[in-house]
Amino acid sequence: MTGVAGFDTIDLGPGADAPVLPAALRHGRASAHYEQRLARTVELLRQAAAEHAGTVVQASSLGVEDMVLSDLIHAQGLDIRVATLDTGALHLETLELIGRVRRHYGIDVEIWRPAHQAVLEFVGRNGPDAMYRSIPLRKACCAVRKLEPLGRMLDGRSAWITGLRREQSAQRVDVGEREVGADGRVKFNPLAQWSLGDVWHYVALHGVPYNPLHDRFYPSIGCEPCTRAVAVGEDQRAGRWWWELEGAKECGLHPEGRHAVGAKT
Ligand code: SF4
Repeated sequence: MTGVAGFDTIDLGPGADAPVLPAALRHGRASAHYEQRLARTVELLRQAAAEHAGTVVQASSLGVEDMVLSDLIHAQGLDIRVATLDTGALHLETLELIGRVRRHYGIDVEIWRPAHQAVLEFVGRNGPDAMYRSIPLRKACCAVRKLEPLGRMLDGRSAWITGLRREQSAQRVDVGEREVGADGRVKFNPLAQWSLGDVWHYVALHGVPYNPLHDRFYPSIGCEPCTRAVAVGEDQRAGRWWWELEGAKECGLHPEGRHAVGAKT
């Protein structure tokens, strides 16, 4: 279906009132000083590649922010591997995106999975819906499916790159562009200062591949059982673990206790 300015509108299927605009058209709007933010992001990525040659990885969630970073890494010709977690509970759209990234950029994408036996034991002991019963059980599931494989992904690596943005949630307002974890590993968050509009502006401008769930009102995408679409006006991460109070909504991949390096700009 033809939409605005050459974009196709999205038909959400039976039951939907009307086709909706793709996320790039809904959100894409560069904020003031976008070019400076972009230049700063490129600078940080170049620093990561130079200071941690061969030992830095982009830990991609395959969300739209990480797609922007993968695009920039490729465009700059930086020697930074792209890796992702397949928790065993991802949407088909997310799994399919891995193949699109590989084809679009001609790169390998490392896929790290949880230990099969550990998942079997967790599900056998607690059932497939344990995450809904309590926060400790939800965090235990995240520990098995995410934290353990992330630890292996980062093992032997001195730095990693994420797509965290300060604007995403109250828990992320203090995200630094460059942080050092308790283990001494450096975490680069080159999009810390970007707005959602900046992200989608970049995507539209550069034809970046992205998860089609974003067009269906999933601004933040995690595992299928723990992600829902958001309503107009809801927080960008309202669809993640929506049954929990706002303050509990992190999976442990980005723990507090880190400290920022250099001035927060
Ligand atoms: S997001 Fe949900 S399914 Fe995924 S690891 Fe965490 S609790 Fe488990």
